[in-house]
Order: sequence, then C-alpha cells, then structure tokens
Amino acid sequence: MATVVPQVLSAPPIRHTECFIGGKWTSSVSGKTFDTINPATEEVICQVAEGDKADIDAAVDAARAQFDGGEWSKLDARDRSLLMNRLADLIESEIDELAALETLDNGKPISDARNADLPLVVDCLRYYAGWADKIHGATIPIRGDYFCYTKREPVGVVGQIIPWNFPALMAAWKWGPALAAGCTIVMKPAEQTPLTCLRMAHLAQQAGIPDGVINVVPGYGPTAGAALVEHPGVDKIAFTGELATAKIIQRAATETMKRLTFELGGKSPNVIFADADLDAAIAGAHFALYFNQGQCCCAGSRLFVEDSVYDEVVDRIASRNREHVVGDPFDPATRQGPQVDQAQLDKVLQYVDYGKQDGASCVTGGNRLGDRGYYVEPTLFAGVTDDMRIARDEIFGPVLSVLKFSDVDELVRRANNTNFGLAAAVWTRDVAKAHRFADQVRAGTVWVNCYDVFDAGAPFGGFKQSGIGRELGEAGLAAYTEVKTVTMSL
Ligand code: NAD
Repeated sequence: MATVVPQVLSAPPIRHTECFIGGKWTSSVSGKTFDTINPATEEVICQVAEGDKADIDAAVDAARAQFDGGEWSKLDARDRSLLMNRLADLIESEIDELAALETLDNGKPISDARNADLPLVVDCLRYYAGWADKIHGATIPIRGDYFCYTKREPVGVVGQIIPWNFPALMAAWKWGPALAAGCTIVMKPAEQTPLTCLRMAHLAQQAGIPDGVINVVPGYGPTAGAALVEHPGVDKIAFTGELATAKIIQRAATETMKRLTFELGGKSPNVIFADADLDAAIAGAHFALYFNQGQCCCAGSRLFVEDSVYDEVVDRIASRNREHVVGDPFDPATRQGPQVDQAQLDKVLQYVDYGKQDGASCVTGGNRLGDRGYYVEPTLFAGVTDDMRIARDEIFGPVLSVLKFSDVDELVRRANNTNFGLAAAVWTRDVAKAHRFADQVRAGTVWVNCYDVFDAGAPFGGFKQSGIGRELGEAGLAAYTEVKTVTMSL
C-alpha cells in the first residue's frame, strides 16, 4: 500500500449525527443525544442521536422489509457486487475527509487513518464485492436414487456491534461479507466513535444501495446494543469488543437462538529468538504494541525475548520510545495520539501502577502526558514475569511487558498460558523453529518475521476466549450464510 502524506483537514465537516434508518436521517424517538468527544482536546465535537429500543425496532423493520422480498432480495448477485464497488469508490474519493473524521473522533494519528485504516476499508469492500457472485453450494452423491445439492443463502437481518479502536475498518469488515452474502444490516457503532460509520452510511446510499439495507443506530451498549441483541427479527449478531460484553450478548441471544460471531480481546505473545534479524524484530515488536496507541485486540503485548539478547532488545525498544512522537494526531509526524477516552486513560494508568506494585521495572514512560487530552507516555516494563497482572490482562494501551525465556518447550507452554488466543508472532532466521512455534501456539493468526499484516483475504479471529468464528476471507463470508440442503427423488 502506498504511503501518502495526508492532506490534513483538522476540522473535517460533520455532516451526519442522526440515526440512519430506512434511508432517512432521523433524531432518536426519545429525542435524546449524547456527546462525542475529541480525545486530543477533551472538547465536545458534536451531539449525536442516542438511539435505543424504539429506534432499533424501526431499523430492524427497515432491514427486514428489504430482506423479506424487498428490492435488495431481488437484486442479482452481480448487481450487489456493482453497488459495493461503487461504495468503495466513493469512500476512496473521500478518503482524506474520512481519515480526518476518524482522527477527530478516535484520536489516532492522521497518517495511520489515511495510510492504514481507510485504504483497508476500501480494499475490504472491493474484496467482498468480488465474492458476491461466487457463493455457491455443492452436489452431493448421497445413497439411493436421489439428487442432492446444497446452496448457500444469506443468514438474514444481521445486527452488527462494533468497538471504537478501528471504527471505519470494523464497519467495513462487517458490511463487506454481509452485503456480499445478501444480508441486510442494523449497525450500532461504539458510543465513543460514531462519526465515520454514519458518513459511510450516507455514501452507501449515494452508491445506490437500497434504503433499509444498511441502517445505523448510534447509542449505548446496554440500551441500543442490548435491544438489537434481544430483537426477535434479527437473525445474527456479529460483535467485536470485550469478552465481558460478549458473555452478556451470548446469554441474551440464546432466547432467540441467534447466530453469533465474536471478535474479542487478546494478550498476544510476540517471540524474539536470539537468531532473529534484530533490527527488524525490534522495529516489529515496537510497532506490534504501540501502533494505534496500543489499542489493538491483537497487540503484541507479551514480548518474550531469548535471554542472550534480552538486555539489548529492552535497551533498543526504550530508545525508540524516547524518540516516539506523541502528540497532536493531526500532525503528520505524530506516531502516537491520545487514548480514546478518560476511562481508557484511567485503565492504562491503573495497570502501570499494577506493574510497579508487582515488581516489574518501568524502563520508560508510566505517566500521563500533559493535562489536556488522554495522552500516555510510551511505557516499557522489563523484568516481567508470567504471573504479573500486566502480563495476564489485556491493557489496551501503550504498555509493553518484556519477558525473558531460555527454554523453547517452556516458551510454548508460557505463550499458551492464557485464556486468549487471538494472535502470536515469532522472529527468527530458523525456518523450522518458526514453523514449530506456528504449529504449537494456540492462536487464530501467527505472524512470522512480521506483525499486523492484514489482508481482506486472510481470515482473522480467535482461539479460546478471543472469539467465535472468523472475519475476512472466505471463512468470514461463510459466517453470513446458511447452508440449505435440497434432496430430490429421481
Ligand atoms: P465493549 O465491549 O465495551 O464495546 C463494544 C461495543 O459493544 C460498543 O459498541 C458498545 O456500545 C457495545 N456494547 C456494550 N455493552 C453492550 C451490551 N450489553 N449489549 C450489546 N452491546 C453492548 O468494548 P470496547 O471497550 O468498545 O472495545 C475494546 C475491546 O474490543 C477490547 O477488549 C478489544 O480487545 C476488543 N476488540 C477486539 C477486536 C477483534 O477483532 N478481536 C477488534 C477490536 C477490539
């Protein structure tokens, strides 16, 4: 992907702040709104409609009408593909504005929003547009005088609930396969970051996607989110967020036996062997944790380093931290912006305290930066052991824990000693060692001599309590379909 110097629109226009239901922009039925905050300044950006049950009901009705015999349900797959490609084109044509909106609402550096998040949004929609007319079943040679075949049908109306760390990208990861499969959508964006998703809904309408196919209801989890999960007219919930929330959703969705896919948290092991290309490994380990302010579900937050190179790796990551540019996310030179909100700032600082209390050595950072905006210094803990809270819990901030290892068999046991299983990585020049680790680690994604390499074609999701099901790739598409088996007597 080409890196461009972003065209900086530090005050992008805010065009959409209401619910988008059945193709219309409406205030919430209750008339309530909530503030969305700029994490870099703590100032209110704007008020956004606070949807709840009544708005979710209307949105599900609109999605249902399109699914059950509406225009969308009658479109050829190839026409769905065309509309999705048009949406991707429109997003691409507004990429600078959308990147700026993402930076304003989330606080991520504009260079990342412009060069990572938004290009991946466009790519994901194009990738799934390519799938729309390639979803097919099989013929099955069953016993007896029968003709048996399967077909894949869209699962129906899907409720999609997303977090705040990659607002536009999470929307694309969920819209892409749903639209390709022929589903209709009610999305609830995170209350911290509703703005890009609302703008993308407008572009979907401009692209010609029929009204009611994509509906967006901003609001809070326990009200709007819960109403979506409980709604009997919703066939599937696709959720990305915290494990604790997923458990609430799983219980609530049982009543109506909804299909569920979950993308949850992680505490991913990132392993540097002494035989690695250390320049690449150190740069990669730094990126693996500090990218997106450490707010990545797959962050390489447990860095295991072989004992003979441990001190060198700690020293060199510490030097990088001292040079890491933290500050105004609209400055193209900034590498780290603020955390998303006060709650995340407090949580991160609490874990810094835990690290110190548990006896780890804080090599860099550990403090809030300034007194305006939710900034945290890039923080590095050495001397971390497996039992410490900073090595066990997901912090979701710029706090790296470096652990030492000497025995390879023990390393695998330690890497797997977590309830999470989202991602893992290994840095080595020894191909056999890399394959052995990839084989033995219990994680949905393993990167070898790289980190955070995402592609719409490569499935992503968690083992163990990091999730259920996969997003992206063919596996992500399958999760939006039902298999129908047809058996005919000959
Ligand atoms: P969260 O679970 O608090 O919120 C996520 C979404 O769920 C928000 O839209 C929220 O409003 C909604 N929600 C909250 N309570 C709900 C309820 N009772 N019913 C329905 N919806 C409800 O998570 P967060 O703090 O926004 O996001 C951070 C978490 O997400 C981290 O744990 C991170 O690891 C995880 N995450 C995972 C992935 C992945 O792909 N695996 C990607 C991004 C984030």
